[in-house]
Amino acid sequence: MIRKFISRVLGRKNTGKRNEPALIALDQHGLQREQISRGCRQTVEDLQENGYQAYIVGGAVRDLLAGLTPKDFDVATNATPEQVRRCFRRSRIIGRRFQIVHVSMGAETIEVTTFRGHHGEPGTNGGNRAQTDAQGRLLRDNVFGSQSEDAARRDFTVNALYYDPSSETILDYHHGVADLQQKTLRVIGDPKTRYREDPVRMLRAVRLAAKIGLAIDPAARRPIREMADLLENVPPSRLFDEMLKLLTSGHALRCITRLREEGLHNGVLPLLDVILEQPRGERFVMLALEATDRRVAEGKPISPGFLFATLLWHQVLATWEPLKDSGEPPIPSLFVAMDEVLRVQAGKLAITRRIAGDIKDIWALQPRFEQRSGKRPYGILQQPRFKAGYDFLLLRAQSGEVDQAISNWWTAFLHASDEARAAMLLPAAPSTAKKRRRRRRRAGEDTGQNPNATE
Ligand code: ATP
Ligand code: MG
Repeated sequence: MIRKFISRVLGRKNTGKRNEPALIALDQHGLQREQISRGCRQTVEDLQENGYQAYIVGGAVRDLLAGLTPKDFDVATNATPEQVRRCFRRSRIIGRRFQIVHVSMGAETIEVTTFRGHHGEPGTNGGNRAQTDAQGRLLRDNVFGSQSEDAARRDFTVNALYYDPSSETILDYHHGVADLQQKTLRVIGDPKTRYREDPVRMLRAVRLAAKIGLAIDPAARRPIREMADLLENVPPSRLFDEMLKLLTSGHALRCITRLREEGLHNGVLPLLDVILEQPRGERFVMLALEATDRRVAEGKPISPGFLFATLLWHQVLATWEPLKDSGEPPIPSLFVAMDEVLRVQAGKLAITRRIAGDIKDIWALQPRFEQRSGKRPYGILQQPRFKAGYDFLLLRAQSGEVDQAISNWWTAFLHASDEARAAMLLPAAPSTAKKRRRRRRRAGEDTGQNPNATE
């Protein structure tokens, strides 16, 4: 009794176990049902009419409370996937290991997830031991459970809020509303255990803190540096998905800066330090991230290929330049450098084949922009990835890596009339064969030989 009183007075004891949620009413949280998409409200209503519990949960509730527009709406329910499917004609079960249901409402797709149960404690939940690898990383997380169990297995307190649109009440198991008001990102349960179960949570902490403008609670922040290596154990495809979320969050610059501060980038972009330590490399990456954030703010689409191409470009340069200096032909050696950089990166981040194709197209265009005579510039304009390659060239010029005159020329060429374009073309450079012939001739003159004698 006394302990209960003290823990209430002191605020919280963050054990990750909390069976009774605080019920937070509209006048305390201010989230109105109209802020929830129509399709999502309908989904919750239909489930409730069928006698199930249903709530809007996770990122959407958090973002709305923080004054941001949610990316999508997720629903959590005590109905099993099969029961959910029976409630909605336009719905289908997705996933094998952990099933969720996609419910279609007009143009919207609502993700409906059944409450998940305990894992961390062996012997609980009918002896259903959590399956982990040698480092403690959870391999499966697919046991159904109660709502309080579902709340406890979520990562941060601000992500464990359940909103009921019919009563406009928030069920708050872990003081998430207070944490959001105090601008704190707090892990549910013991941060070290939760990071060991899933090291991606460390990246999520940095991303969400940057996105919502929260400070990571010291207890959650402290272990990150020493546990960063655990990211090496995470499947590269998951890291890639998380990096993509981070880079397209609209706060890429802040996220990358914070990843570095927390020592986390080594697990995902190990060469980021090397890139950022080169003055031109740092400027280039910063400009690229700023441009990306601006595009997100303007609601424009982001190309993952372009983003990864910028992050890895200075590695390509670092590999390409020594090859060229050793006398290798420039274009074939660029392709060698590109393949090498992507090969090394593939061990960390599983960049999908399609995105790797986009990245290479953008890189391969770069030396071609130097060709400004004859028919070649017209051919370059026709390349499917021209626009991305050109934007990339602009960034290179802005960062001081290439001559501004080249990017200015392309900007003018792009917008010029046919006649003006023809007038802009530079005089043709001598072809390689001609150059070789001239060099040989000159060598003949130097040695006093008749150059024609060798031909
Ligand atoms: P956003 O959609 O803005 O990226 P989000 O928090 O909604 O952020 P999702 O990946 O959509 O992220 O996850 C939805 C919810 O699932 C989260 O709010 C959280 O409650 C839970 N969740 C997601 N990833 C994890 C994780 N690695 N560990 C525990 N819970 C998680
Ligand atoms: Mg989400």
